[in-house]
Parts: sequence; structure tokens; C-alpha cells
Amino acid sequence: SRLVAGLSKTRDNIVAGIDSIFNGFSAIDDDFYEEIEETLIMGDIGIHTTESIIQDLKAQVKERKIKEPSECKALLIDTIKKQMDLGENAYEFENRKSVVLVIGVNGVGKTTSVGKLAGQLKEKKKKVLVAAADTFRAAAIEQLTEWAVRAGVDIIAQQEGSDPAAVVYDAVSAAKARNADVLICDTAGRLHNKKNLMEELRKIHRIIDKEYPEAYKETLVVLDGTTGQNALEQARQFREVADITGIILTKLDGTAKGGIAVAIQAELGIPVKYIGIGEQMDDLQKFDPDEFVNALFH
Ligand code: GDP
Repeated sequence: SRLVAGLSKTRDNIVAGIDSIFNGFSAIDDDFYEEIEETLIMGDIGIHTTESIIQDLKAQVKERKIKEPSECKALLIDTIKKQMDLGENAYEFENRKSVVLVIGVNGVGKTTSVGKLAGQLKEKKKKVLVAAADTFRAAAIEQLTEWAVRAGVDIIAQQEGSDPAAVVYDAVSAAKARNADVLICDTAGRLHNKKNLMEELRKIHRIIDKEYPEAYKETLVVLDGTTGQNALEQARQFREVADITGIILTKLDGTAKGGIAVAIQAELGIPVKYIGIGEQMDDLQKFDPDEFVNALFH
């Protein structure tokens, strides 16, 4: 599958190591656990998450009186899956009149993800509108326009440098007038100026609350999976300025650091809702923890 292919580098990184541990040890001892721990941490699963996985694994091994290292593999897979929980209604916005704010720093794949999401919802017969509210970067408006054409959805945009909140105001008016199902706003994410960013997002939220109170609100942060632990740190910082409801983790196709998907959810409690595994329209997938871990341990 595309997912299995997309995760090949992460699989080579984590699973090849894990497999050699399962095959190389004849007893379940401290060294065995240490090797697994090290492999998971090297695979960007994160220190805290790894510790909790190992603890859980040890408890299971004890409880089930398992003696063979090879028998631990299935347990480990289940334990990793347990670290990820999307919660209920993760994709509720797809079924409601909704406004989706997409935030992210330059280059993470934000505009691309907005385009892919718009295209996929459109394919599901939703009436989608996108708003170019990242007015800071000149190319962002052009790029989103291209994606809107490709996706076959309408776009609301103003000139470069205009007030993002004004673009959102226009977009909300248009969404109501045109009876759109989902309005997706490509907004900026300049983390180096958190105060401004927080103000900007607050202003945008105020407009949506006032002009479109019935809309269901979703705030997705886009993170670049190739940056590993930095993506985790970025998510932490965004959490300080916005009420994040989910993560879009991009570029997993080009990286061995896909384990970061586990760390983000386990350590921050923010669900990864979509993953990017390529540059095409259908290379954005809903994140399914079972499928993800199965694809890794394929
Ligand atoms: P933005 O600045 O955050 O809006 O980033 P862009 O949407 O312009 O994306 C930056 C680059 O990353 C572009 O060349 C995209 O094609 C590429 N990109 C985005 N998502 C993915 C992905 O999931 N996989 C790969 N391989 N490339 C991606």
C-alpha cells in the first residue's frame, strides 16, 4: 500500500533494529529491554513515551509469564498502538458546517496540506471553500490558488500583506452566502513572534465566533515529520498560543523519523489526525494508529 511504501525509511530505522533484537537475544533480560529502549528512542518515539512503552511491556511479559524474546514482538506492537488514541469525533468537522484553521511555520507543507484536504473533501461531495489567510508570504496566495484550481474549489484571497483577519471575515461571509460545508483557512504560523501570532489567531477566532457562531471549529497544526524532535518542540510552542485540536504530520515519506507520530500523541496528548506521505492530492491520509503501526511492522 501507499502507506507501507511511504513509511519505508521509518520502518528500516525502527523495525530492522527491533527485529534483530528479537532474533538476537535468547533470554528476556535487562540488556534485552535496554536494546529495545535504545532502538525506540533512536526511532524518534521519544524518551517518555519509550519509557512508558517499556514499562507496559515488562508488566505484560510478567503477567503472561512470557519467556521467549520472539514472543514479545506482538506485545510490543500492541503496546505502541496503545500510546495513540485519537479520541472520539476526531473528524467531526467533515460532517458539520465547519471552519478549519490550519497553522504552521513556513515550509512544513501547510499550503500543500490545505490543498490536499480541500481536494479530498470535495471528492466526498462536500462544498469546500479555502481562504488564503497566510498573507505574509507572497507565494502562499499563488500556491493556494493553484491548489484550489486543482482541487476544484473556490478560494477567497486578498493581496499580499493584507490583514489575515480581513481575509477570514470575507471567507466566512462567502462560506455562509454560498452555503459551504467546510471552510479551510490557510493561516500563518510565525513562531518567532508569539505575541503577534497569538493576537492574530485571537482576532480570527473572534471574527468566526461573531460572524459564524454555528460553525464547528477545528485548529490543525502542520508539522514537518523530517524534523523529528523539533516537530515535537514546535507542537509544544503552538500549544501555548492556540487551542490545537489536531496535527497534520507531513513528509513522512522522506524520513526515518516517523516514530515522532507516536511521541506527539503520547507526550502532548494532541492527536495526529493526518499524515503526509507525498506531494500528490491523495498523499494525505487520515491517521489510523493501528494501520500506522501495522505498516511499520509490516
Ligand atoms: P508551507 O510553506 O508550509 O505552506 O509549505 P508548502 O505547502 O509550500 O510545502 C513545502 C514543500 O513540501 C513543497 O515542495 C511540498 O510539495 C512539500 N510537501 C508537503 N507535504 C509533503 C509530504 O507529505 N511529502 C513530501 N515528500 N513533500 C511534501
